[in-house]
Amino acid sequence: FEIREPENEPYLSFAPGTPERDELRAEIDRLKNMEVEIPAIIGGKEVKTDHQQDVVMPHNHQHKLATVHLCGEEEVQMAIDASLEARQKWADLPWEERASIFLKAADLVAGPYRNTMNASTMLGQSKTPHQADIEAAGEFADFLRFNAYYLQEIYRDQPYSPDGMWNRMEYRPLEGFIFAVTPFNFTAIAGNLPLAPALCGNVALWKPATSSVYSSYYIMKILKEAGMPDGVINFLPGEGADVGDPVIQNEHLAGLHFTGSTGTFQHLWKSIAENIETYNTYPRIVGETGGKDFIFAHHSADVDALVIAAIRAAYEYQGQKCSAASRMYIPKSIWPEFEEKFLDEVKDVKYGDIEDFSNFMGAVIDQNAFDNISSYIDYVKESDDGEILFGGNYDDSEGYFIEPTLVLAKDPHFKTMEEEIFGPVLTVYVYEDEDFEETLELCDTTSPYALTGAIFSQDRYALKQMADYLRQAAGNFYINDKPTAAIVNQQPFGGARKSGTNDKAGSAANLMRWLSVRSIKETT
Ligand code: GLU
Repeated sequence: FEIREPENEPYLSFAPGTPERDELRAEIDRLKNMEVEIPAIIGGKEVKTDHQQDVVMPHNHQHKLATVHLCGEEEVQMAIDASLEARQKWADLPWEERASIFLKAADLVAGPYRNTMNASTMLGQSKTPHQADIEAAGEFADFLRFNAYYLQEIYRDQPYSPDGMWNRMEYRPLEGFIFAVTPFNFTAIAGNLPLAPALCGNVALWKPATSSVYSSYYIMKILKEAGMPDGVINFLPGEGADVGDPVIQNEHLAGLHFTGSTGTFQHLWKSIAENIETYNTYPRIVGETGGKDFIFAHHSADVDALVIAAIRAAYEYQGQKCSAASRMYIPKSIWPEFEEKFLDEVKDVKYGDIEDFSNFMGAVIDQNAFDNISSYIDYVKESDDGEILFGGNYDDSEGYFIEPTLVLAKDPHFKTMEEEIFGPVLTVYVYEDEDFEETLELCDTTSPYALTGAIFSQDRYALKQMADYLRQAAGNFYINDKPTAAIVNQQPFGGARKSGTNDKAGSAANLMRWLSVRSIKETT
């Protein structure tokens, strides 16, 4: 019995005339016209609370999709009890039995539930069909399948046994529960953060982002259908502190699997530190946070490739990927050609309602995001050190729409070159060709983050120099390609410095964080 190395789940095209286009449209209509109630799910039971909130569509905030029940201390305590009750049985289940639930869930995600995953992600998070399918279906199925395969490889990794003894390593789940805190921007990441530890035999408390709880809820339904036992994954929608505080104060916290803002991650880390004497075991802390991801061009860069990479990396999913390019360094010698070609391309970038499949962008996630991003645009408009070369308009009357925006910074330390905006705003700094090395240095030191970055050149010596200077500047580094859209089993994803603990999502290294090894020596 063996899990063969999986293939990545292929993506659908949704081109006019394809059956998948009509099926997706039908699923969008079905979900849109059906208001759902999203409860907490604790020990397999639906739990309703007296604190509820509307779930609306970012591109049409008058349209309500669901009501979500928000949790507090009481529900957290119930979830901790339920998870601890389920823990031993789950941990003792032979791993193949656990893996088979994950492989079945992957087939449901990629097969019969694909339209539901994509439509709920489009409606709730304002993604285009392609942006939804690459992750809510494709990447999610990949996480589920590859993690099962990686776990098998981990279990096979056994120590040397000289004559007279049998040495072995027993990969045990952690003692306690894992707290998974997930972001709004990727349905696949939301699913992976509680599920990767669970595959290893752990139980989890999952706090989804309230702004993407709609698609997260369908993940819970799929897990149930795949046979996930009650209490293994407990679903706790709610406000950060209402759920987070009682979880962090509990002695059984064994790990935190987090993706989200730097501020929240640091807050959680500090709270864990404050409670360190409370815990039975040192909690594992794994987190992916912000980025200020760059594209750096050498004068030998292929400008056509650079333009396409910049537009896709900065504006796909409205720039709301941790990996999105938001600052760019271009030498003066190629700037005029770049500017002309970029402006010519970007004017055709359409944004609007995601139900119009010809749109390249939808809306940003909510009012807070809209206010934050538009305040950066206003800052540029009022500043003498920055200039808007394209875009700069925004409108939240119907949905939270922000035009793809290109900013030219006169100063490499201009605010929008340094701060994470998490929206469709790309800032360019044009450097003198002879300042190539100083500018590389600047790129490395400008931001405390190190998530993704891309370099463009057709000169092998320049590429080597750029890769060396920027060795620490990105956990995911791209040569002549956009810095987004990492694929499971191809480019394991994660950042260093202030971008996170770099425990690559979708890798054996990540799974190792959820296992505690017992080394056994037996004399034979
Ligand atoms: N894995 C995604 C990508 O490569 C980014 C994930 C994130 O935004 O957290 O684009």
